[in-house]
Amino acid sequence: MAWDFSTEPEFQAQLDWVAEFCDREVEPLDLVFPGAAWSRNPKARALADPLKQQVKDRGLWALFLDKDLGGPGFGQLKLALLNEILGRYRSAPVIFGTAAPDTGNMEMLAAYGTSEQKERWLTPLLNQEIFSAYSMTEPQGGSDPSLFTTHASRDGDEWVINGEKWFTSAGARADIIFVMCTNGMFVVPRETPGVEIMGYPPLHNHIRYNNVRVPADHLLGPEDGAKVLAQRRLGGGRIHHAMRTVAQVKLAFDMMCERALSRESHGKVIAEHQMVAEAIADSYAEITMLRLLVLWTAWTIDNSSTRQARTQIAACKYTMAKVLREVSYRALHIMGSLGTTNLTPLHAMYASAPTMAIADGVDEVHKVTVARNVLKGYEPHPGLWPTEYIPAKRDEARKKFAGIIASDPELAAWADAAVRHTERG
Ligand SMILES: Cc1cc2nc3c(=O)[nH]c(=O)nc-3n(C[C@H](O)[C@H](O)[C@H](O)COP(=O)(O)OP(=O)(O)OC[C@H]3O[C@@H](n4cnc5c(N)ncnc54)[C@H](O)[C@@H]3O)c2cc1C
Repeated sequence: MAWDFSTEPEFQAQLDWVAEFCDREVEPLDLVFPGAAWSRNPKARALADPLKQQVKDRGLWALFLDKDLGGPGFGQLKLALLNEILGRYRSAPVIFGTAAPDTGNMEMLAAYGTSEQKERWLTPLLNQEIFSAYSMTEPQGGSDPSLFTTHASRDGDEWVINGEKWFTSAGARADIIFVMCTNGMFVVPRETPGVEIMGYPPLHNHIRYNNVRVPADHLLGPEDGAKVLAQRRLGGGRIHHAMRTVAQVKLAFDMMCERALSRESHGKVIAEHQMVAEAIADSYAEITMLRLLVLWTAWTIDNSSTRQARTQIAACKYTMAKVLREVSYRALHIMGSLGTTNLTPLHAMYASAPTMAIADGVDEVHKVTVARNVLKGYEPHPGLWPTEYIPAKRDEARKKFAGIIASDPELAAWADAAVRHTERG
């Protein structure tokens, strides 16, 4: 019997250390020096770097990378259990070397880079000596890649990139940008002449690539291979977001339960009011369903491949947005007026739910993917009636008992009466 929901004791000990470490070291850093972990201020970085070293010393750095890609090879299931803790703390993913957008970019480099490209970009990215961004979406459309027009033309030993990208997260502070062109994925150092970062939006940048020249060896993977690389990148990214979302909704749930037991109204603690109890019960079930879906998906990736898990990953993508929206809203509501402020994490968490439904592909597209893939296992019913149309099935079943029916009129009459009874119900 292979189904097993337990965690091996050695890894549980690591997880216990992570939870304690994040509470003791990461949360205070986030509260007093937010952003120190990825800051370029050397004094701020000096506060975060020793924490990163502790993570490395525990063998927990960059767990997202498989062994064949140069990582520790813990697999997605262990990463999911780790991310269920890290997702609670703003800078924990950076302190553990598992933060987007670098992770996805590193996965592409590890899987498709030449040894020279890996040495030049993957190693410094892994060590967080440099940071990266990913430029795929364009202003005229994000959900449909056939609308993208950014293109690279070959000119001697160089590629010349022209186009416009939108919502390149952290593009303005990245050292290198992975630019998806109609004819390939290119690595562009941000300071290359012609990379024009527009003022808005401030965090997810609008970038124009005006005759940007990069050497020929800045093409990553095969020419015309950008879509394959993008799928590789985004598949992993989506499940990692879902893992961290489990952490977020658990945090909201903890806050909801604590508040329900702490606050009194109309003569009793609010936990004893039935609608509050319903919010807790529904949240418990939804979080558990999301968590099991995410863990099962991670297990599938470990035991087959990201490609094999595509339907599950898509289901995780829109389920996480929905559970995040529902649970964070209930928690915020039970927190009352305090929940509407920025004095607890709930308001920001609730505000991030729409983002989760858009970033890495809008929910509708993932739902269509799930439906399309699921429907491959089905066929239309051959005749007028659905396969489960009971009268037709019963006529068919009667053939099995034809002998008995013919030979025992009393039993046949009993059967007819019993059937009429079920039809009435
Ligand atoms: C926080 C955040 C970070 C991001 N970071 C990056 C990044 O680093 N790099 C990058 O390249 N991009 C990034 N994106 C962009 C993201 O990939 C796109 O927003 C996403 O693909 C949707 O594209 P769009 O915004 O153009 O929306 P559109 O494609 O215009 O979609 C808008 C709406 O139209 C409807 N719709 C669209 N297509 C369909 C369909 N097929 N079926 C049914 N309805 C549909 C949906 O209601 C959808 O919400 C980020 C987005 C967010 C929110």
